[in-house]
Amino acid sequence: MMQKGAPGGDTLGRPLRNLRLSVTDRCNLRCHYCMPEADYVWLPPKDLLSFEEIGRLTKVFSGLGVDKVRLTGGEPLLRKDLPVLVRLLAENPNIKDLAMTTNGVRLAELASPLLQAGLDRITVSLDTLRSERFQALNQRDELPNVLAGIWAASRAGFRSLKIDAVVVRECNEDELSDLIEFGKETGAEVRFIEYMDVGGATRWSMDQVFTRTEILASIERRYGRIRPVVEESTAPAERHVLPDGTVFGIIASTTRPFCQSCDRSRLTADGQWYLCLYAQQGIDLRKPLREGASDAEIRRILEASWKLRDARGAEERLGSDSRKPLVEAEGLRQDPHLEMHTRGG
Ligand code: SAM
Repeated sequence: MMQKGAPGGDTLGRPLRNLRLSVTDRCNLRCHYCMPEADYVWLPPKDLLSFEEIGRLTKVFSGLGVDKVRLTGGEPLLRKDLPVLVRLLAENPNIKDLAMTTNGVRLAELASPLLQAGLDRITVSLDTLRSERFQALNQRDELPNVLAGIWAASRAGFRSLKIDAVVVRECNEDELSDLIEFGKETGAEVRFIEYMDVGGATRWSMDQVFTRTEILASIERRYGRIRPVVEESTAPAERHVLPDGTVFGIIASTTRPFCQSCDRSRLTADGQWYLCLYAQQGIDLRKPLREGASDAEIRRILEASWKLRDARGAEERLGSDSRKPLVEAEGLRQDPHLEMHTRGG
């Protein structure tokens, strides 16, 4: 059901509900599938929205139906005083679900402060449990800190804890059951993500994508019959249950895009609003905000833009014949807003 105050949906009738807030474009890992290059062009610090500006924009969004907010980046825990922003957002009564995606490197020290500030749910990205592999894939020796972060989040008692793993062929597809078992130990639901050709994935190729079908077959071989979880949801993950009741998810954005039900949009740390992960252009909200636009004026920009939204980025990619990375490294240097770490994964 559409919320009170919500616009009538986009051109495909999709409501404006789910907002991903990138709070920084900086990251302390260099994952092969996201930030593989030696250097990057960063957003100018003066352009970064303050917590007050983020809070104000979020309030206008929430007046239009946004009730789910996810903090992301870059690595959100690199943003100084993040619990202060969490508290500010948690005070907004329209936000029913406040979540964060993090690589977990700094989570051990921040899990409790984030929970106390009002963060409901947390997702930690973890592709491997093997040190050498972690080092090769993420180009930093941080696995012990990530594991400590997941345990700290597990002990802190968030409403939900998830582990997201990108599965890359001939890299970590042999670790699916190890990750599921680690999820059982820590109380985290594990979700496997197909390798996507978006943003910084300049080394992507289709043959490295370990597909949803292969993920299911591999898990079934190990655990026996898997049943789908029947539920109505616009969440990207389709969930499945193992014979022992353990639930895991698959996010098959590459081979089975979910554009038809996608209610997500993304606000970058410098106030550019993207209506699709694959969009080439964003809508500048920082300019009107800093030029003194009223809430009503910003609301009109959001309403008008959402009404025209016809994006189906992942579906369009599926239809292209010779699939290669969406943007080459040089294109990303010229417009860092095309990076996944800038627009928020
Ligand atoms: N730094 C945080 C983290 O690592 O979770 C948040 C930002 S990161 C860009 C968000 C998510 O995007 C991570 O789970 C990451 O694995 C995923 N991601 C990045 N590039 C991807 C790609 N090419 N294919 C699939 N997932 C990707």
